[in-house]
Amino acid sequence: LVRLRARLARSQNSLGKGLLTLLSREHLDEDTWEEIEETLLTADVGVMPTQELVERLRERVRVLGTRTPEELRGLLREELLTLVGTDLDRTVHTESDLDTPGIVMVVGVNGTGKTTTTGKLARVLVADGKSVVLGAADTFRAAAADQLQTWGERVGARTVRGPEAGDPASVAYDAVKEGIAEGADVVLIDTAGRLHTKTGLMDELGKVKRVVEKHGPLDEILLVLDATTGQNGLVQARVFAEVVDITGIVLTKLDGTAKGGIVVAVQRELGVPVKLIGLGEGPDDLAPFEPEAFVDALIG
Ligand code: GDP
Repeated sequence: LVRLRARLARSQNSLGKGLLTLLSREHLDEDTWEEIEETLLTADVGVMPTQELVERLRERVRVLGTRTPEELRGLLREELLTLVGTDLDRTVHTESDLDTPGIVMVVGVNGTGKTTTTGKLARVLVADGKSVVLGAADTFRAAAADQLQTWGERVGARTVRGPEAGDPASVAYDAVKEGIAEGADVVLIDTAGRLHTKTGLMDELGKVKRVVEKHGPLDEILLVLDATTGQNGLVQARVFAEVVDITGIVLTKLDGTAKGGIVVAVQRELGVPVKLIGLGEGPDDLAPFEPEAFVDALIG
């Protein structure tokens, strides 16, 4: 929590502190509510969630009458928590059975942190006592397989890779086959995220998914989203969600943005929970998404 707080320091300044300062004004006039709305929109909370939050805050502040800073803080905390959602299933499912390992596919636009996230997730799983096989199915970015293999060596997971510019689906297939042969607990598949055309992406990811499912059911399809890309990122996210059934979101680079509100916006947009957050480039910089810790870090 301490680390998350430190990392989200910038969000804290812009969102939570900004809101508290505004709410603490003696007269909450129309202009102030507009400023509150702007603060939320600037933090990428999104239009609908912002309107909902402001409406609820207005009503609760009205009912409260005079208000102490503690009351305001408590109220804001509760309402932000409601918005973020406390009862969503944020577990990354990697359940294996006797015959097949847990299978997780990692998708997203290039540059969002897909490969890094796959490596970090492998580390978390290995630290948890699980044996992990990595599938380097991003065969389009020349360095991606090397990068993944380096992560694998670092964390103690074997990497299955194919020829450069080879067929991503066949690498994914081989990785799961290998996972089964080794009796691995989990297979993580890094995919390519070329948004050249939607049909191209659909063909490619659809094929990877179909081929993998010949071995056994997919436990998760995680969409990696760069928190610093704001509305653009949301547009991309929508395209991926139309192509495959996303089961969870990994929001990366939260360490580099003041716009923590994207958590709310993307969950709304896709109807899927944020399960993990990326807080840096290092191997330990992947954390489960915990609504309470997140909101506390936002309000400081
Ligand atoms: P991919 O193309 O989606 O596989 O993206 P990469 O995994 O290669 O990551 C792109 C860049 O983002 C690399 O320089 C990563 O180190 C960096 N990166 C990934 N996740 C994070 C994060 O959570 N925080 C920060 N600051 N950088 C990250």
